[in-house]
Amino acid sequence: MGVLDRLGLRRPGPPPCSASGQFQIAGVTVINPMHGRRAGATIEISGGSITGISDAQTPLPSGFAGCFALPGLVDMHVHLPPDNALKLTQGAALLYLRHGVTSVRDAGDLDGTAVAAARRSSRQGVYPVPRVISCGPFVGAGKATFKNTILLADASAAAADAAARRVKADGASFMKFYEGLTEPMIRSLEGACAKHDLRMMGHVPRGMTYEDARIAEVQHFFGVPEPATLERDTLVNRSCDWHAVDERRMDAIVDATLKYGIANTPTIVTNQKMLCYRDFEATRRQPEMSKVPPFYLDVVWHPERGRPGNRMQRDYLDRQVAPAIAKKQQLAKRLFDAGAQLYLGTDVAQPFVIPGASLIEEMTLFIDAGIRVEQVWQLATRDAGDRLGIRGLGRIEPDAPADILLFRRDPTQTIGNLSSLEAVVTAGKLYRITDLDRALRSSQAYFASPLIKPLARRGAERALARAFGGAGA
Ligand SMILES: [Zn+2]
Repeated sequence: MGVLDRLGLRRPGPPPCSASGQFQIAGVTVINPMHGRRAGATIEISGGSITGISDAQTPLPSGFAGCFALPGLVDMHVHLPPDNALKLTQGAALLYLRHGVTSVRDAGDLDGTAVAAARRSSRQGVYPVPRVISCGPFVGAGKATFKNTILLADASAAAADAAARRVKADGASFMKFYEGLTEPMIRSLEGACAKHDLRMMGHVPRGMTYEDARIAEVQHFFGVPEPATLERDTLVNRSCDWHAVDERRMDAIVDATLKYGIANTPTIVTNQKMLCYRDFEATRRQPEMSKVPPFYLDVVWHPERGRPGNRMQRDYLDRQVAPAIAKKQQLAKRLFDAGAQLYLGTDVAQPFVIPGASLIEEMTLFIDAGIRVEQVWQLATRDAGDRLGIRGLGRIEPDAPADILLFRRDPTQTIGNLSSLEAVVTAGKLYRITDLDRALRSSQAYFASPLIKPLARRGAERALARAFGGAGA
């Protein structure tokens, strides 16, 4: 990057941190969604953790008096950007934090560099990044979609054990079940995950139903439409061809979910964003889309230049995708009412799914489905934290990680109040939204600059080719 330095095109610096180490947030209402609220409280923070919550008034005036303090949000399904010369980790991290997402679960490291880059940035402590919980490489069989996939040769316990060891060695706490797995392979992997203390989540693989696969935490509601009903056998069709999913099928899914204790991360926002292909040029002009570097729209999400799955016809979007969104909301509500566990994830990296902003859209889809705002908050904080197995994550209580959002208006009353976010505490460091916004604008300007824009575009083309290994999807 020596040339860029000489041209004065320095990469934007990190946002200023307003408080770290030991500090207090005084005069706030602490809300643990569905688990109580405490007005006039002072939160004590030290070394990245919450050390106490008291009624003590500090002698120091607090800029946050009167604010509402909630636990940081968790996105349960993202794909962090690959690590390359563009250093995309930092920009994505800024977007997550700016929208209140302080933890993400990486649901499969696309090229094997993404999670390590985020962890490195976190260790260095210069640029803030959300807490990263990972699945490591994908685990599948047959032909790999992504290069970074462990392929099982057979359903033996030895093969499953070797896969679990590799996932564990990658620093992951989950295993991502992916395409090509057979039912005997899934059962073997379950045994290996139990042995190696790995939690499980993933796709119901191609050709299998939800109830035959019995994946512990199903992503994208895959397997809900029965394979024989699909228009074509592709990932997009398995996500969207819900025309045959009727009341009877939904009842069967609810029954199987309760019977086998299955959890679901539906990622409905992914389908909602597919509708942007109705008018790609109009989407491109949305202010929201300027939050990501231009190469996403120029290459990665482009209908012709990106993945083959991006070529979505208007007719298909109207016939399948739009009604599937409504049915998925209906199924989510049914599952919720039946007492089944749901999580909120977005599948960031999919077209037009913006880090951070998309989790708020997913929350809104759950609320529109009929689940109350505060209940959705609980799913996206406490329930997610419990699932990730990090003590206290998703709660504001002593010994919990200091991941705290400060709102001027109560965001459990109406989701619109999320726009009143004033500051984010991530791993015990406080950032003001005005500072995060300024850093984001610098990052946008950098990627849109005449010199960086074409370089970034070429880098994206190469990264795309690397991640998919020319296989497409
Ligand atoms: Zn995904």
